Amino acid sequence: MKSVLLLGASGSIGTQSLDVIRQFKDRFALAAFSVGRRTETVPSVIEEFKPDYLTVKSEEDAIRLRKEYPGMHIYSGDEGLLEIIRESGADLVINALTGYIGLKPTALTLELGKELALANKESLVMGGQYVMRLAKEKGIRVRPIDSEHSAIFQALQGNRHEDAEDLIITASGGSLRNRTRDQLADVTVADALAHPSWNMGKKITVDSATMMNKGFEVIEAHWLFDIGYDHIRTVLHPESVVHSLVEYKDRSVIAQLGVPDMRVPIQYALLYPERYDNHSERLSLEDIGDLHFRKMSYERYPLLKLAYDTGKAGGNLGAVLNGANEAAVKLFLEEKISFLEIEELIFDAVSHFKKEGKYLPDPDLDEILDADHYAYQYVKKKALWDRH
Ligand code: MG
Repeated sequence: MKSVLLLGASGSIGTQSLDVIRQFKDRFALAAFSVGRRTETVPSVIEEFKPDYLTVKSEEDAIRLRKEYPGMHIYSGDEGLLEIIRESGADLVINALTGYIGLKPTALTLELGKELALANKESLVMGGQYVMRLAKEKGIRVRPIDSEHSAIFQALQGNRHEDAEDLIITASGGSLRNRTRDQLADVTVADALAHPSWNMGKKITVDSATMMNKGFEVIEAHWLFDIGYDHIRTVLHPESVVHSLVEYKDRSVIAQLGVPDMRVPIQYALLYPERYDNHSERLSLEDIGDLHFRKMSYERYPLLKLAYDTGKAGGNLGAVLNGANEAAVKLFLEEKISFLEIEELIFDAVSHFKKEGKYLPDPDLDEILDADHYAYQYVKKKALWDRH
């Protein structure tokens, strides 16, 4: 029996991780979990899985929950996310947090030599160099939960790393894929949130519409699979059935296919390298009939190009990209900026940061978080400034 700590239990990946743990309860025990402000999900998780540790966002909620569950260890705040990793004794940590907040828990999990199933892509976008160096030192193979990276991880099994020539990451194109750039000016929050194939959290759905998500996934792939940016390609694939591919030196291309269902990559990350029957829908190629692939356009999706450039430059620029994006998407979701201003603000933040001479080639954890914070604040101020 493996004991699991699930960070971000109330989110989309979190609830689907609980589905997987429920289905394989003879193998996994939920020892600990975290939620942010959505504490209404707490009682049902405790009743079903009987974990001993919990951490929540606000100390106020923690005080209330300690009274309700006197036998449990309950923490709060950013520090609570680290305490629960140290104290819960879990063997495997599922990091399903959203945003920069996931970086320190990822680093601490690796420092303590625990297994890591990683859905928090920001950990690698911001701190890939730092995180993967730590993983290497500790001899830990980070298990990706992102569907594209799970596909690549699966397509790499049984082959020599040096024989993989290119990674090919598929992109659904997101909610606005049928619009030209000229048709992006009047996009509403509701338009951007209507993702055609994946049911996900709000932030990542907007990130899919801007293609920032794919840019992050390129950076994520670079770090997870130790492959140069010139050997990572992206292709539009609206059906989201081919989750990604690996092209080998002999021109053989291995893809992983399946119905879009995040429980499949979650299960693979948890049970790797074993596979068992699950309740997911089976793929019927006859019913699908046609699969389509289209060339990716940097003109249509400039943030994807920016992600490549930023990734190649490395250092603390990934954190700048992330911080700027996190602020811009938040402002868009609050209807304070337009859809196209997301891009403008992110480009602005990255070039401003470089101009200010703040680039660091090999930042530590605090320097990474500083860069993220700087970009976040810069975008926030800039957006408000433009309005007054
Ligand atoms: Mg993905």
